[in-house]
Amino acid sequence: MSIELQRRGILCIVSGPSGSGKTTLCRALNESDPLCDYAVSCTTRKPRGGEIDGRDYHFLTREDFEERTTRGEFLEWAEVHGNLYGTLKSAVIDRIRIGHDVLMDIDVQGARLIRRNPDPMIRESLVDVFILPPDRDELVRRLSGRGTEDPAELELRMANALEEMRHWRDYGYTIISGCPETDLRRFRAIVEGERCRTGRLHGDEGFEDHPDLFS
Ligand code: 5GP
Repeated sequence: MSIELQRRGILCIVSGPSGSGKTTLCRALNESDPLCDYAVSCTTRKPRGGEIDGRDYHFLTREDFEERTTRGEFLEWAEVHGNLYGTLKSAVIDRIRIGHDVLMDIDVQGARLIRRNPDPMIRESLVDVFILPPDRDELVRRLSGRGTEDPAELELRMANALEEMRHWRDYGYTIISGCPETDLRRFRAIVEGERCRTGRLHGDEGFEDHPDLFS
């Protein structure tokens, strides 16, 4: 007789300032772990060079986004850097129910909304991770290195990054970003550990009644 336990999926939200490397980290785990799905967000911001609709974001008009908020399609949404960003319920809820883990790359406002979600399944599945850049100089270097924003936007992102970093203590886990391999190893360890939490497991609770299993 073998023990068969199932579990609900984890909803892993990852936040950190722009330039912390959180998107790369989520993508790397998603690509290397078949149980980890990446929830593609919706946004009203314009695509950057190389970004693909449906892979990086669902790029929506403001009108379309606002209609979806009215219809209650978002699990959470927030205004970030002057644009709207949100995660569709359809990208998350059914996947968690069938035992898939979902990665969400969202800002601190979105994380706060998820923590307060009225659905206990969402709150119980939540794992929150904050990614901090190693130091301020490196953050500036990463923000400027992208070369995708004009100076005014860069300044806004720097101010927002510092503001965002004030919330790291609201998260259950913190990774100080260093080399990509170490960051990924730590991130994977967090997810693997959370998968083993007893409270997430169900389905074969009667196995303790079979003493032959342990003889
Ligand atoms: P970017 O425009 O650089 O791709 O993202 C800007 C910020 O929006 C990042 O902090 C990112 O985590 C956040 N973001 C991306 N998708 C979502 C989302 O669905 N909801 C929320 N609340 N924030 C998001």
